[in-house]
Amino acid sequence: MAALGLEDPVERLSGVGPRVREKLQKLGLTTIRDVVYHLPSRYQDRTRITPLRTVYPRMEVVVEGVVIASQIQFGRRRSLLVKVEDDTGSIALRFFHFSREQQLRLANGRRVRCFGEARRGPQQLEMVHPECQVVDDYQPQSLESALTPVYPATDGLHQAMLRKLTSQALEVLRMNREDSAELDALIETAVAQSGRLPPLHEALRLVHRPPPDMPLDPLFNGTHPAQIRLSIEELLAHQISLRKLRQATRKRSAPVLRGGEEMHQTLLAALGFTLTGAQQRVVAEVAQDLGKGLPMLRLLQGDVGAGKTAVAALCASLALANGYQVALMAPTELLAEQHGRNFTRWFASCGVEVVSLTGRATPAVRRRLHAQVAEATPRIIIGTHALFQEDVRFGRLGLVIMDEQHRFGVDQRLALLEKGAQGNLRPHQLIMTATPIPRTLAMTAYADLDVSILDELPPNRTPVATKVLAETRREDIVARISTACASGRQAYWVCPLIDESEVLDSQAATDTAEQLMAALPHLRIGLIHGRLKEQEKSAVMQAFMQHTLDLLVATTVIEVGVDVPNASLMIIENAERLGLAQLHQLRGRVGRGEAQSICILLYKAPLGDTARARLQTMRETNDGFIIAERDLALRGPGEVLGTRQTGAASFRIADLSRDRDLLPAVRALADRILREQPALGDRLIRRWLAQKLDYAKV
Ligand code: ADP
Ligand code: MG
Repeated sequence: MAALGLEDPVERLSGVGPRVREKLQKLGLTTIRDVVYHLPSRYQDRTRITPLRTVYPRMEVVVEGVVIASQIQFGRRRSLLVKVEDDTGSIALRFFHFSREQQLRLANGRRVRCFGEARRGPQQLEMVHPECQVVDDYQPQSLESALTPVYPATDGLHQAMLRKLTSQALEVLRMNREDSAELDALIETAVAQSGRLPPLHEALRLVHRPPPDMPLDPLFNGTHPAQIRLSIEELLAHQISLRKLRQATRKRSAPVLRGGEEMHQTLLAALGFTLTGAQQRVVAEVAQDLGKGLPMLRLLQGDVGAGKTAVAALCASLALANGYQVALMAPTELLAEQHGRNFTRWFASCGVEVVSLTGRATPAVRRRLHAQVAEATPRIIIGTHALFQEDVRFGRLGLVIMDEQHRFGVDQRLALLEKGAQGNLRPHQLIMTATPIPRTLAMTAYADLDVSILDELPPNRTPVATKVLAETRREDIVARISTACASGRQAYWVCPLIDESEVLDSQAATDTAEQLMAALPHLRIGLIHGRLKEQEKSAVMQAFMQHTLDLLVATTVIEVGVDVPNASLMIIENAERLGLAQLHQLRGRVGRGEAQSICILLYKAPLGDTARARLQTMRETNDGFIIAERDLALRGPGEVLGTRQTGAASFRIADLSRDRDLLPAVRALADRILREQPALGDRLIRRWLAQKLDYAKV
């Protein structure tokens, strides 16, 4: 073991064969150092038995009691329900998979000790599939002496293995000190913390293996000095890598895009409305950037319905007028097609062609489209992720526009940039998002971008009135749909994700559509969900747009960007299950025309506290920024930024909301390190972002 170094590959650790190595790779762990920085995402408290009276939903606890009832329940799914009682209260254990033997072991009168997460059951508090032991009076099972770390894992790589590997990695760390004195000192002076922060090595050890006497609450809340020490380092690493990214991009050149007055005017006329002041300002900001010969990197934030598409079109015209192509990338096919239709209509009078790389094309058609894209002719190329595909080559790309950026990661952004490279020239980038991000967050998460804000809605919009109703009011609502549609309006009925499975969700939407068809036989009702083929989806969407459908029953596939101004009524079922950002996006599908729009949020009682707070917020405000702030308070920024999956701002230990107060100091420190100790910055990036180096390097 003594011979091992932090740079050595994971397979030098004992227990790592080809299979485990592959799993570790999936987690981004290739060196022993990577394992050292693979930090627990949370902890379990198996150190004490929690009295049942003090257990609440979502608590993960050890409980102990005597079985007082045990029975098999038949319902949608058969399950074994075991009721357990201690001196203070009771809880039910539920097993969907169980053997005869298990059932006998959990017989009446037995004393059991269980570990699991409590949740609200139909009758009472339950634990589903807890770890369960029958307690033998003569040989009580021992509790843990310290908190148990829980690591981010992957299929087939279990906690026990991760604990074994991190123990070995910590041993390697002990023998090979990470160079940290310099940074320990810098952090000490830069961050005015009341308590002393432990140096790097101590912090890593504490976080991986909390000692038994360590106070539990700070560790659970992520506010222990060891966690703060590591959070600062991680935030610094991110900040420095984003700044370097920005510096690197700025060293490149980009096409100089100027003039274009004529096409601008033609397009304005084709739009058929006057730009809002905010739209004009943002177009001017972008035009400034495009004329400098440096690659623009600009984030355009604008609430749903603020009119980002028109801004995108005007920016595009500047590139087109200068003889360059524009790529417009949307997160869904539906949205890409809608953009395709709008841009085709708007740019017809400018003589600019739109190439849509959406939907399913025959290989021959696809080859023809790709050949067009490879030409230098200035065209608009619209698509989804298809734009990244190997065989798409751009002939003369000047501007990349990404719509609803929160669906894409930093790496995807960079990939498209590289695709459009011509020698040292990089295309300009405009990134649009309807997810309003509080300013401190934006500065940290998007340190590599300039930000424009579209803070004005087009005129003549009446704010959407939002009502929150229990689902028992369904009949009234059906009557309301009938009235709205009779007066020439259209409506959406949204059935959100109720299960992980797309099959079940699509089924739920199908059932709802059938019920509504029976209840409203005089209406033309359409159905759209994720299991339909792309062509079918777009046909239904087209029909709704052309008003040959009155009511559209949909899953959340319509969440992003869909624009049908005549729709003025939206019903969202099971609204209690959706997050604020999603509810706000969905509601943004109405209130796009002049008619008073109504959004009805249907919920199933009983409501939890968070769900109640969310629905309350929706009723109180239409302002995306306020909603984002509340969302941040309720959920934390990983999800607010919507980047948890894409990895743009997914942190191991830092939490932008919890660590908000640290951000100014971290930014200042990042500046200083970049200026005075660039080598230290590189070390930090290697420690914390090794797996993401591809984009840190660009
Ligand atoms: P989002 O910012 O959510 O992408 P859209 O670009 O889809 O918003 O615009 C919403 C609607 O507002 C569209 O129907 C669009 O044509 C219309 N619109 C955009 N700008 C204006 C404006 N300045 N005046 C009137 N209507 C506008
Ligand atoms: Mg949009």
